[in-house]
Amino acid sequence: NFPADVVPQAPEDPLFGLMRAFRADESPDKMDLGIGAYRDDNGKPWVLPVVKKADEILRNNPDLNHEYAPIAGIQAFTSKSAELMFGADSPALKEGRATSIQTISGTGAVHLGALFLAKFYKGNRTVYVSNPTWANHHQIFNNVGLPTAQYPYFDKKTKGLDFEGMTQALREAPDRSVVLLHPCAHNPTGVDPTLDQWKELAAIIRQKNHFPFFDSAYQGFASGNLVRDAAAVRYFVEQGFELLLAQSFAKNFGLYGERAGCFHAITSPGPGAAETIARIASQLAILQRSEISNPPLYGARIASTVLNDPKLFAEWEENLATMSGRIISMRKALRSKLEELGTPGTWNHITDQIGMFSFTGLTEEQVLRLRNEAHVYMTKNGRISMAGLNTKNIDYFAKAVHKVVT
Ligand code: PMP
Repeated sequence: NFPADVVPQAPEDPLFGLMRAFRADESPDKMDLGIGAYRDDNGKPWVLPVVKKADEILRNNPDLNHEYAPIAGIQAFTSKSAELMFGADSPALKEGRATSIQTISGTGAVHLGALFLAKFYKGNRTVYVSNPTWANHHQIFNNVGLPTAQYPYFDKKTKGLDFEGMTQALREAPDRSVVLLHPCAHNPTGVDPTLDQWKELAAIIRQKNHFPFFDSAYQGFASGNLVRDAAAVRYFVEQGFELLLAQSFAKNFGLYGERAGCFHAITSPGPGAAETIARIASQLAILQRSEISNPPLYGARIASTVLNDPKLFAEWEENLATMSGRIISMRKALRSKLEELGTPGTWNHITDQIGMFSFTGLTEEQVLRLRNEAHVYMTKNGRISMAGLNTKNIDYFAKAVHKVVT
């Protein structure tokens, strides 16, 4: 039933292939700048202290068991997740125009949104994603039968935002297209629109009747401030947009493998809004039931414990500042080392960009030389995970970059 012309061998996921090559490399100098997971200054995974505390609280709670969660997940978790993203005083939450459902981290949330659109969206079914974007976006939408198209995003010359290209593409896209947006810490480029640019984008999206779908994977991880990183989303909600939002707690809680996430739908204000959102919620529940029945407990319990306790929440904010602060200091150090070395080119983009990743501008050839000659592993598009840099390896990295660029 499954000969090779029917089921051809699929290529290995590039990122996980890179990880495999890294593990096989025996050099003591090897550096992993591929994977998007936080590392401390010793290059080790970091369990957030607040997560350790929440874990302790959960382990000492005799009332917890391993029964199924409700289909929509743990309510104390989803309601606080919505407040975190949209603000506790969000008009959409106060007016009952939002619904939230717990998902298998951010990927599951994007998938659930894609599935919902595939079944119910009657506008232009092409999903516009940034060029480049998180590679998984394409396959998540394509897998449910929604084609993707790209809007320009990254300007290779400035290594910043191609705002003109982006806005022109959104103006030229058919009316009522779905537009996927990264609210902060864009993956893979680390380049975000300014708030004024977000306002212009909102105006175009409104004028064209496009449908915004936000994918939020780095709230609090980008600037270190949860509110600041939510500003774009909150602006759209204030403007009364109907929208979807996928929310991941992988990075900001360091709960990568625990798969804690949430999917939110908001509808526009007006008579019938609460009834619309109830219908949407009922359909999301059906989709969820057929896909995963009900979401996993542990990660959501951890996040919920923190989100519902003001003291733990404050401690979480400190942990976020530790992670984002270390990354920002690595950005400064890398830029100044490259500038000190006189490495050809400009390096201001390293500090202009934000979040987990930097789009260095290194060519594929340079990336491969770094891998073969210096045992430095990064994706072929020149993206580095800033969290892979630390005070011990940053000199080595800057010198290796200098060598392949010169
Ligand atoms: N969206 C974007 C833009 C991401 O960068 C990521 C993480 N790499 C995700 C979604 C989802 O990650 P997860 O499923 O681990 O929450």
